[in-house]
Amino acid sequence: MISARAYTAISATDPLVPGVVERRAVGPKDVLVEIAWAGICHSDIHTVRGDWGPVTYPLTVGHEIAGTVVQVGAEVTGHAVGDRVGVGCMVDSCRECANCRSGREQYCLRGFTDTFNAIDRDGRVTQGGYSTHIVVDEHFVLRLPDAIPFQKAAPLLCAGITTYSPLRHWNAGPGKKVAVVGLGGLGHMAVKFAHAMGAEVTVLSQSPRKREDALRFGADHYHATGDPATFERLANTFDLIVNTVSAPLDFDAYLKLLALDGTIVNVGAPPEQVPVTLFTLFANRRSFAGSTIGGIAETREMLDFCAEHGITPEVEVIRAADVNKAWQRVLDADVRYRFVIDIATLAD
Ligand SMILES: [Zn+2]
Ligand SMILES: [Zn+2]
Repeated sequence: MISARAYTAISATDPLVPGVVERRAVGPKDVLVEIAWAGICHSDIHTVRGDWGPVTYPLTVGHEIAGTVVQVGAEVTGHAVGDRVGVGCMVDSCRECANCRSGREQYCLRGFTDTFNAIDRDGRVTQGGYSTHIVVDEHFVLRLPDAIPFQKAAPLLCAGITTYSPLRHWNAGPGKKVAVVGLGGLGHMAVKFAHAMGAEVTVLSQSPRKREDALRFGADHYHATGDPATFERLANTFDLIVNTVSAPLDFDAYLKLLALDGTIVNVGAPPEQVPVTLFTLFANRRSFAGSTIGGIAETREMLDFCAEHGITPEVEVIRAADVNKAWQRVLDADVRYRFVIDIATLAD
């Protein structure tokens, strides 16, 4: 076993505290990663607070991980000591079902293994990236292209792939009108990707205060959803709406913004059920959809796309000791646009 220092949740309500997680010994197909950077995702907080189901404490969260390979198992072929790599929201899947075999491990029919708070194949609870080291099967470790700055790489592994995958699936590109709802960690990546793919991009955000940022990230248009006139003005406009907001919305109002054959795809979700009026779907043959992260092959494609187009997330680097303050700021929507923990500061 390998002891890794960590910042750990001991209950749903206590602040995170320094602790230790035990990683399994490096198996034949495993890679030991020394973590350098860990992004803070809203899911980390939802999970620890118990919003999404039962939690085994102590729990170390974090599924936006960038680090360096420091050891590989005897049968590892895809990674070498010294490689810069990333680990995202999955650390395993069954590898046998139809979806796994077609490279869509995120839709594993037996359920993929989450990077934290899931039962690993050795029966232990997985522990995430707010930690100095992690041991992961090589299939779920992604080599980082040299062109991606190390300290900005981590958020690509969740916020990046979560928005890239639906934009690709629903063919965001030239001639397509794409709206992004919410300009946070996920939303700002969606804007950068959709713009680079060649779509005409609109940001729909509650207030006008992020307009400058949105335009700088590549948005062509910006509308405040707090203004009811926005919904009249934009009726029947978009081919695709990517909803990154996890608070409940008036979904019918947003559906009415879709043009013929348009789709609203949700990548954030409120815990409660959401009402949708079927007659709103009948008009314009609209679709109401969901999407979760992306497969390993597609994540590789996303990283290459970022390298090719110079796409990086906007990050604010923090020390490990400031993680509780950062969580509060995430809850207050006071982050532009992703916190990244400098894991070297865990040693202090
Ligand atoms: Zn996440
Ligand atoms: Zn599977």
